[in-house]
Amino acid sequence: MNKLYLELKNKIEAANSIIVFSHVSPDGDTLGSNLAISLMIENCFNKKVDSVFAGSLPSLYSYLPDFNRFKDVQTIPSDKKYDLAIAVDVASKDRMISGTVIFDNAKTNVNIDHHKTNTGYGNINIIDGEAACVGIILYRIFSEWNYKIPLDVARCIYTSLLTDTGGFRYENTGVECFNLAAELVKLGVSPMEEYRACYETKPQSMVQFQAYIVSNTLFYNNGKIAFAKITRSDMSKFDAIDEYTEGIVEVLRSSKNVEIAAILKETKEGWTKVSLRSKNTNIIPVVLEFGGGGHTFAAGCTIKKPIPIAFDKLLKRIQSEIPA
Ligand code: AMP
Ligand code: MN
Ligand code: MN
Repeated sequence: MNKLYLELKNKIEAANSIIVFSHVSPDGDTLGSNLAISLMIENCFNKKVDSVFAGSLPSLYSYLPDFNRFKDVQTIPSDKKYDLAIAVDVASKDRMISGTVIFDNAKTNVNIDHHKTNTGYGNINIIDGEAACVGIILYRIFSEWNYKIPLDVARCIYTSLLTDTGGFRYENTGVECFNLAAELVKLGVSPMEEYRACYETKPQSMVQFQAYIVSNTLFYNNGKIAFAKITRSDMSKFDAIDEYTEGIVEVLRSSKNVEIAAILKETKEGWTKVSLRSKNTNIIPVVLEFGGGGHTFAAGCTIKKPIPIAFDKLLKRIQSEIPA
């Protein structure tokens, strides 16, 4: 067995208290992966696991098995010492927000991730920057452990795969994704049911909010750059919650001309959370300059400035990536 997978198995067997972390602004990969490993540990090792999120928990993913087990990290005492802490899909430690101290205080901490920008902040680091999603890495681990994967776990891994490949469309979609999908379907997953649960259950106000934001997009450099702003007042107009912005930036990128698309969203603190997508440009250097991270064509950062200032800075920086 892969040495790291065995080490993780030994740590789980020896642990009396286990916590699994998702990243702030949780998405389908971090939530699906969290549930997959939490349920796997409870099923196969008969241990109790605390599954926690940071920020707000998007109800878009409430169809996932045992979704109600998620606890807000803020409800965990910050001085609680776990035997084992596991982070899934967490590019940098600070993305666990107040969970970072709990992660650090654990007897052993494990970092399972697929971001190329991950620095390897765990005692055990299982990182593959080429993996399309963390669910793929978990499936490799579970397969080597040689336990049968329950349907609930398979469904969670499917959501991780489905969402991080953009429905098997992004550049990270390769042979291993389709092989894994086939294995998950063999375990009983229904692609149609998961697709509908994941993408076709939006509240009406979310569809209208997204249309409004998209229709106010600003284009630059002959339409190669698309920038959309989302202020708190836009959000309150539609009673929008954080998860309502999910998927907008991909709509902007769907324009034929667009090479780089950005969503600039005002945070509760008045700062600017940026979601960036590109077609062919490596945008990692851009977000690293602003203290963020991510993948080659999908990355993000939070700029601690109000939207108008962040907008100008980011636009200038992105324009420098686009040939005239
Ligand atoms: P998003 O635009 O929020 O969907 O994020 C796109 C990708 O970039 C995801 O893989 C995120 O994990 C990553 N990402 C977004 N914001 C940050 C950040 N502040 N620091 C590190 N990675 C980030
Ligand atoms: Mn993620
Ligand atoms: Mn991911």
